[in-house]
Amino acid sequence: MSSASSLASTLLRREILDLHAYHVPDSAGYIKLDAMENPYLLPHALRGEIADAVASAAINRYPDPSAASLKEKIRGVLGLPEGMEVLLGNGSDELIQLLAMGLNKPGATLLGVEPSFVMYKMIATFTGMRYASIPLKEDFSLDLPATLAAIRREQPALVFLAYPNNPTGNLFSAQDVIQIIEASPGLVVVDEAYYAFASDSFVPRLANYPNLLVMRTFSKLGMAGLRLGFLAGSAAWLEQFEKLRLPYNVGVLPQLVAEKLLEHHGVLLQQAEQIKQDRAKLYRQLAEIVAVRVYPSEANFLLFRVANATGVFDGLKRRGVLIKNLNGGHPMLTDCLRVTVGTPEENAKFMAALKEIIIQPV
Ligand code: PMP
Repeated sequence: MSSASSLASTLLRREILDLHAYHVPDSAGYIKLDAMENPYLLPHALRGEIADAVASAAINRYPDPSAASLKEKIRGVLGLPEGMEVLLGNGSDELIQLLAMGLNKPGATLLGVEPSFVMYKMIATFTGMRYASIPLKEDFSLDLPATLAAIRREQPALVFLAYPNNPTGNLFSAQDVIQIIEASPGLVVVDEAYYAFASDSFVPRLANYPNLLVMRTFSKLGMAGLRLGFLAGSAAWLEQFEKLRLPYNVGVLPQLVAEKLLEHHGVLLQQAEQIKQDRAKLYRQLAEIVAVRVYPSEANFLLFRVANATGVFDGLKRRGVLIKNLNGGHPMLTDCLRVTVGTPEENAKFMAALKEIIIQPV
C-alpha cells in the first residue's frame, strides 16, 4: 500500500501540489505589527455588553442563514446607494474565492496588478482560473496604458484592484480605476479592505457601473478575529453569487458580535482616526532616516525599503518586534518591509529598535 504522501501526490491537482500555503508566522510574545490588525481593545463597557449577548446566544442553533439583521446594520453604516445589496463572507478571502468560482468558465481570466494582495493569484490558481497580471509603475501607481492594453488582450472575466493597495499602501488614481472599469468587459472588484484609513471609496459610484462590485472587510477595523467581509453591489450580481455561498458561512457569534460593534461604529472609527494620526507620525519618523525609503500610505500600514530587509527584519525580531518581510515575494519588493501601525507605544518601540539596527549595521 502506498504512503499517504504518494497517494496525495498522485490524486491532487498539479497546481495544488505546486502551491505554497499562505504562511502565518508564530507571533506569540512579539509586538505584533505584521498583519494590519487594529491594536486596540474595545472599551470595557462595550466588552461587557458583548459578553452578555454572547452568554444568551443560541449557539445550539444554526445561524440565521440570511444574516438579515446584520446586513441591515451594515447597510446602515455603509450608506449604500438605492437598490444596492450586500453579500456576506467569512472574511473577504472567502468572497474572492466565491467570485472566482462563479466566473470560472473554461479559459476565463482573472486579472490583477502586481505587487498586490497575494490571495487573488492564489485563489485563481486553486480554483483553476487563468491568472494574468500587469506590473505597477516604479512608484506603485497604476500603469494605465499597460493595464488597458491587457484588458483588450486578455478580456478578463474578473479584475481585482485593491483600493488602497496591499502591500504598497497607496491609493490608485480614481480616474485610472474608472477607466479600467469602463474598459473592462468583465466584473471589476474594487477591494476596499483598508477603506477606514483612506480618503476615497467607490461605494458612492456603485450605481454608475453595471460591472462594478465593492468588497470590504471588517478585519482591519478591529474585527479580524470575527472573520467578516462583504460585497456590495447590484442584486443582479449578488443573487447569483449568493447561490455559491455556503448556507452558514457566518456563525452565530460573529453575526451577533459584529452587530453589537456596528451599533458602536463610532468607537471603531475613532480608533481608525487615531491610527491615521499615528501613521502620519510614523511616516515622518521613517522619512527622516536617510537609509530608509518610505512610501505614502492610505492604509493602516507603511511600506518601506532598506538596504538589507532580511537583516533588518531579523534584527527587529531579535528585539521583540514582528513586522512583514516582503523581500523575495515579488521583484518590485526587493528589500521592502511592511509595518502595521500599532499603538503609540508599539510604534515607538519599533522605531527605537529600527534605529538601533540601522545605526549599528546588522
Ligand atoms: N483584501 C486585501 C487587500 C487584504 O489586504 C486582505 C487581508 N490582508 C483581505 C482582502 C482579506 O481580508 P479578510 O479575509 O480578513 O477579510
